[in-house]
Amino acid sequence: MSADKRHFSDRPLPDGADIRLPWHLGLPAPLERSFQTYLLGLSRTLIRSSFLIVALLLLGGSLVEVLIDPDSAMHSWRARLLAVMAASFAWWAAAPGRPDRLLQPAVCLTALTVSMSNNYLSATLDHELNYSYYLFNLLAILLMGTLFRITLRWALVTSGIILLLMLGSMIFFSTLAAAEILVLFFFVLAGGVLSLHGQYNFERLQRQHYLAERVLAMHRNELHSANIVLENQASEDPLTGTVNRRGMEDRLGRLIHQQKQRTPQEGNLFVLLFDIDFFKQYNDNYGHLAGDDCLRTVSTVVQSMIQSESDFLARYGGEEFLVVLNGIRLNDALVFAERVRDRIEKQGMEHSASRCSNVITISVGVAAWRRGITQCSDLIRLADEALYEAKRLGRNRVVLIDEDGSLGPM
Ligand code: GH3
Ligand code: MG
Ligand code: MG
Repeated sequence: MSADKRHFSDRPLPDGADIRLPWHLGLPAPLERSFQTYLLGLSRTLIRSSFLIVALLLLGGSLVEVLIDPDSAMHSWRARLLAVMAASFAWWAAAPGRPDRLLQPAVCLTALTVSMSNNYLSATLDHELNYSYYLFNLLAILLMGTLFRITLRWALVTSGIILLLMLGSMIFFSTLAAAEILVLFFFVLAGGVLSLHGQYNFERLQRQHYLAERVLAMHRNELHSANIVLENQASEDPLTGTVNRRGMEDRLGRLIHQQKQRTPQEGNLFVLLFDIDFFKQYNDNYGHLAGDDCLRTVSTVVQSMIQSESDFLARYGGEEFLVVLNGIRLNDALVFAERVRDRIEKQGMEHSASRCSNVITISVGVAAWRRGITQCSDLIRLADEALYEAKRLGRNRVVLIDEDGSLGPM
């Protein structure tokens, strides 16, 4: 069995069960970079659509404030405007085509701005609900994890800063009692921890999903390559490497179908069927292995003469080959056939048992496609008639079968 075949059949198919993620959510360097790009691609769409929710939340907060305490609202709009500006920056950075490195800092900056502006308002506004502004810190943490879905690392660091700034602001700038500070801080801390824990699980799932998709893609590529190898093997002649009869029928069938839709100006389709002269005697004289070598040489020589993509050489069977020429004129097909015959003769492969020459020669039958021919076999039958005539006339020659079925040497 060849190495390629072993490769495809012996290896167990990957099923993704071996995917284990470390708790710190990291992948090997090149994979991690590609995962980040994938995740940020998802965040971009989320950030753009979530922006509306953030804008509505900020607007809702302002309305509540206006109802409760219009004086505070007059004071707080500047801080809110700052938060809206930061959110707009995140929205801008999330647009397709903006550099990846801007996206997460922009979201974190939005969260920090929301947090700091509310800490500031809480410490400076003078009414009995001013402690409630500290609750916006929780909103800022939720915003990163649940709305914008940046990576846990960025959200974790920013959440830590938000919690520290909030604690500092409560201790140094507010008039809250120690018990109130504790209750508020633990409320925000608990909410933040829950949010970050959810985000951790989400990111793990995203990473697992990403790896599983990669495994599937690898799998698909392998299957695709295996299919190509098998397809080639199924349509290739093992001795000469040329197209085998099955492959020839596929390709010629397609060309006949195309030819039916062509105008005469676009050229015609030709089949050149050739057969080595007195090859049985060659085998008898030089041995079967030498016969095989001769078949390989003949096919290599003819193959090297084929230029166009749609033209091809096929081994029709035994020592008979077939050349298909597509989209050319009759004269060019005959010139080509004669050149093939001549090149094989000039190859000078000794054949002392031949009764028509002292070297290997071939006889060629040429047939052109004509209206009414829909099957490969019909076209090949015509070429075979011409080949038979070439043999009858003494071999080592080219014979054409005409439109009207008349046969004549070139
Ligand atoms: P003609 O000039 O009339 O074509 O005479 P010929 O002896 O070539 O005719 P025939 O078709 O009777 O003989 C074909 C020979 O080709 C018979 C067979 O031994 C030989 N042959 C067919 N396939 C192979 C092959 O794969 N390897 C070798 N070495 N010989 C083969
Ligand atoms: Mg022969
Ligand atoms: Mg033969």
